[in-house]
Amino acid sequence: MSWLPAPQEPLLRVAVAGGTHGNELCGVFLARHWLRCPEELKRPSFSAIPILANPEASAICRRYVHKDLNRSFTSTVLSSKATPDEPYEVTRARELNQWLGPKGSGQAFDFTLDLHNTTANMGACIITKANCSVFAMHMCRYLQLQSLELPCRVFLFQPSGETFSLDSVAKIGMALELGPQPQGVLRADRFSQMRALVASSLDFIELFNQGTAFPAFEMEVYKNFGEEDFPRTEAGDLAGVVHPQLQDRDFEPLQPGAPIFQLFSGEDVLYQGDRTMYPIFINEAAYYKTHKAFIKTEKIMTSVPALPPLPSALTHSL
Ligand SMILES: [Zn+2]
Repeated sequence: MSWLPAPQEPLLRVAVAGGTHGNELCGVFLARHWLRCPEELKRPSFSAIPILANPEASAICRRYVHKDLNRSFTSTVLSSKATPDEPYEVTRARELNQWLGPKGSGQAFDFTLDLHNTTANMGACIITKANCSVFAMHMCRYLQLQSLELPCRVFLFQPSGETFSLDSVAKIGMALELGPQPQGVLRADRFSQMRALVASSLDFIELFNQGTAFPAFEMEVYKNFGEEDFPRTEAGDLAGVVHPQLQDRDFEPLQPGAPIFQLFSGEDVLYQGDRTMYPIFINEAAYYKTHKAFIKTEKIMTSVPALPPLPSALTHSL
């Protein structure tokens, strides 16, 4: 595993986004709350900016208005010329890129955390890109240590092409998935868990900015290697459901030959792979449309090098 080097300056331009998907309500209501009361996002060395990423979709409690915003931060979309009839999310992606980016530039925000909920039984899951910064991995570790009552897994997402998510616009970005929570529903337990994880993320940035060093460690991570669609009829309708023995078993090992779907005809469909895999986003509501019943991952033990103290730390008092 190769990690990008740690930042050499304090992280001062930090954003926390919610409502990138307008029906994932922890982020929607946290962002709205912080826009009214931003003090909660302040730390001695920086103030994180709250962002309601897709306000139009949040207003109607839908994932998106015309197009998935969290798939819209591609070079094609971001460099496109505005047209009067373009999808709302294309306009919004350009606006957010102006604000938080431009993506890939030196002016981009130092760090962005994007808040999501899933209907799958994922617990807390931090999603970051596969070749991420050593800083991001240390933040993941810190969140795991702070979140002992809730499993907090790390999913290193490798897209098949270029990155496309909101968090990819900042120099260092990650998404936080928390589930299960139904779409359009706000649960007190998820809400407070997400709020606590955001607070810990900001605490970690503060420790880093103050010159704290973090030792090397070993960590289990999950990496995607494919997806599985539901069984379908020739017309494309569902022909079965996620098997009851697989439902809610996100991040648990699935062996070749284990049942994964139950057809409406009554038969079981078995996993045909040749190795153990770890399915995640099992039966995620938003993925029926995109033909994903779950995402296949492998579990890897990885070594993360030490995070040295910032050469230009704000103080060395800690
Ligand atoms: Zn989402």
